Amino acid sequence: NADTAMYAAKALGRDNFCFFTPAMNADAVRRLSLEAGLRRALEREEFELHFQPVYALTDDALYGAEALLRWRDPVRGLIPPGEFLAVAEHSGLILPIGEWVMLAACRQAMAWRKAGYPPIPVLVNLSAVQLLRADVAALAERALQASGLPADGLCVEITESTLMERVEDVLPMLHRLGELGVRVAVDDFGTGYSSLAYLSQLPLHVLKIDRSFVQAADRERHPAMITRAVINLARDLGLSVVAEGVETEAQLDWLRAHGCTAYQGFLRSPPLPPRLFAERVLAQKARVQ
Ligand code: C2E
Ligand code: MG
Ligand code: MG
Ligand code: MG
Repeated sequence: NADTAMYAAKALGRDNFCFFTPAMNADAVRRLSLEAGLRRALEREEFELHFQPVYALTDDALYGAEALLRWRDPVRGLIPPGEFLAVAEHSGLILPIGEWVMLAACRQAMAWRKAGYPPIPVLVNLSAVQLLRADVAALAERALQASGLPADGLCVEITESTLMERVEDVLPMLHRLGELGVRVAVDDFGTGYSSLAYLSQLPLHVLKIDRSFVQAADRERHPAMITRAVINLARDLGLSVVAEGVETEAQLDWLRAHGCTAYQGFLRSPPLPPRLFAERVLAQKARVQ
């Protein structure tokens, strides 16, 4: 529509001439305006990280904190990554955004340690575009150096589909991350098509079971089969296994009964801004331990 087109044209800056013809569909205009918005968000530092706690299933120890990206738009408020990641990836803006995420996550994790909270690993999501176009091992190394965070305080998450579709390209990077001492988790596991032959040879540390299986495992046969299979596979490969998206006590009981290592989900805590994470999660644990 005309408003979005105007917004996009303005966002491109006054030195750019830009014509929006009827042939240019509303989708393209929306993408362009979102892209300009993301560029501005980077400059104005409108991105923030929220953190979701991951808990061990056996002793309830704090297992880690997953860093999840949000965009605080001055007009629209807090925007979740699902609304802008595809455009960030398509435009290549995910590269500078991903650099910011890695550095900000390591700095936050180190700040908590310096404040005396129990040391827990921070989990950082990587996009396929970063893995294929950027040197993420060098990025991780820089972020660790700049923040002072030890390498075992960082774990990167790669989705199963990224990993398996491009395993030959990603493999050298996995080895370099391993040499640094950074751990690697496979995100949304169960939704891709893992080759078992590959899985057993990759330098991985954690499988994260996708929430679509986790949330139905206690009630339906097929999700239960898949979740059980992933838990057993992880155990046989010597990896830990984290269940994503746990929302009910019944799901949690089921996971505990089937030998899952750790879980995260709204049942326990949504992703929280850093100050709330420290108050509600870290401070609580510091008291217990
Ligand atoms: P993900 O890595 O699988 O992260 C888990 C998502 O599930 C998060 O959504 C989280 O808020 C949500 N979640 C957690 N517990 C529950 C629950 O109990 N129920 C339900 N329904 N959802 C739950 P979010 O934060 O919107 O992130 C969506 C996806 O965006 C992430 O999925 C990840 O793939 C991507 N993402 C987030 N932050 C980053 C980032 O910094 N870089 C990159 N490349 N991708 C990111
Ligand atoms: Mg993740
Ligand atoms: Mg996931
Ligand atoms: Mg997911």
